[in-house]
Amino acid sequence: MKIVHAASEFFPYLKTGGLADAVSSLAGTLADRGHEVSVFLPGYRTALEHKDAAGAEKRLSLKIEMGDQFLSGDVRVFSPRKNLKIYLICREEFFDRRAPYGNGERDYEDNSDRFLFFCKGVIETLRLADIQADVVHCHDWQAALLPLLLREAERRHGVTLALKTLFTIHNIAYQGLFPRSVFARTNLPEEINNMDGLEYYEQINFLKGGILFADRVTTVSPRYAKEIQTPEFGCGLDGVVLTRADDIVGLLNGVDTAVWSPGIDALLPARYTAKDIAGKKICRAALLKKAGFDEKYTGPVFGMVCRFAEQKGLDLLLANKAFFQTQECRLIILGSGDKRYETAVAAMAAETPKKIYLCAKHDEAMSHLIEAGSDFFVMPSLFEPCGLNQMYSQLYGTVPIVSRVGGLADTVTDADEKPAAGTGLMCEPTDGSLRDALGRALKLFADAPRMSAVQQRGMARDFSWNVAAEGYENLYRDSL
Ligand code: ADP
Repeated sequence: MKIVHAASEFFPYLKTGGLADAVSSLAGTLADRGHEVSVFLPGYRTALEHKDAAGAEKRLSLKIEMGDQFLSGDVRVFSPRKNLKIYLICREEFFDRRAPYGNGERDYEDNSDRFLFFCKGVIETLRLADIQADVVHCHDWQAALLPLLLREAERRHGVTLALKTLFTIHNIAYQGLFPRSVFARTNLPEEINNMDGLEYYEQINFLKGGILFADRVTTVSPRYAKEIQTPEFGCGLDGVVLTRADDIVGLLNGVDTAVWSPGIDALLPARYTAKDIAGKKICRAALLKKAGFDEKYTGPVFGMVCRFAEQKGLDLLLANKAFFQTQECRLIILGSGDKRYETAVAAMAAETPKKIYLCAKHDEAMSHLIEAGSDFFVMPSLFEPCGLNQMYSQLYGTVPIVSRVGGLADTVTDADEKPAAGTGLMCEPTDGSLRDALGRALKLFADAPRMSAVQQRGMARDFSWNVAAEGYENLYRDSL
């Protein structure tokens, strides 16, 4: 099949979270399975500076209609592997910036224009380069208007650009909400400018457009597909999602095992497998040392890696500060983001520097070292569309402690509830329930044979992308 992906993130060209990993692995796996895959991304500075883009050809010049203006741009193309082409929709003014969405304090004020330009740039390239896609698969709010804009462009030009469109919600909490005046920049017919279209309480909601107008909608785990149809998890769009209930399926993300396998992980000081786990001890010592702790420490090490956002359950972690400060253990956290959490977590670490360590940045190597060197991985998210770290943890023999939501509930089995099948520990997203799970972790750690059995079951799990890619292939075929 000819498959086009459009997304704002793609590992290793730009990544702020799991979206980058998911799009990159899915596109790569589909290419390996023989499909002709084209991925469209904004021409971010980090993408253009990446070595893969060094020989990128400038393929097309664009003139994009934005309201009553025309904005210029260009398209660069390169191919990092067989069957895979990357198209960068470039316009310096929009994408040559230090960060993709904002300056750390606030989102950029021109985000609506930036991602509308991106969507229209994709469509114009599909038209000018005559790509003739079977499926255009769009991801998250930044690409959510594509299905609608694509059909409008086909109508205007009297052509077919894609047979079917698919929209994947990686996180319904990020919707792309903008002032109503933004509608004029879409050049869409006025009949879409109402509550059956893009309007959302006197604003314009990009994500809503994707949910309403794509041929099929998916989420990144089965449980999340159900959750977002409820007010508790729908972030105000549950009613809209419900109107597409028959067309929504949840397909679990996989793990890119070329990057995340302890047996071949080049970012670790030692490699290990389920059969020969000795290297995990070396990683543990290296992690403890990196955090400034005694590398011979024998008690349990808790690790955490995440964007610092409310979603990740940082309030629950902070509410359990006393546990980490008084119990015999170490806590090593890697993360950055929301300043409020950076300050609070840094203060917690500063109070007990002998037990708690914070690495407040984005650091790929450190994230691998935490996955490998920790005994437990803490992930008490309030909601989690899929989550990757709980899967990495299991593959790395690190027992995940997760809340029972979304993809976490779909991928972890509680070791106390199901002693013969457990791969982790689960809690409800509350302070007390997390406290209980942390206490159960100490008991598990003290029982070496049981701890080892839980680790071994986790390491034996198959989270490979082939399973997920097959799910998407079936969906593409079914929609065609
Ligand atoms: P989300 O997409 O909501 O951020 P996921 O669990 O799906 O959450 O994916 C997060 C990805 O980002 C994981 O690969 C995780 O290791 C990585 N990550 C998050 N924070 C950091 C950080 N500070 N340094 C390195 N990697 C990080």
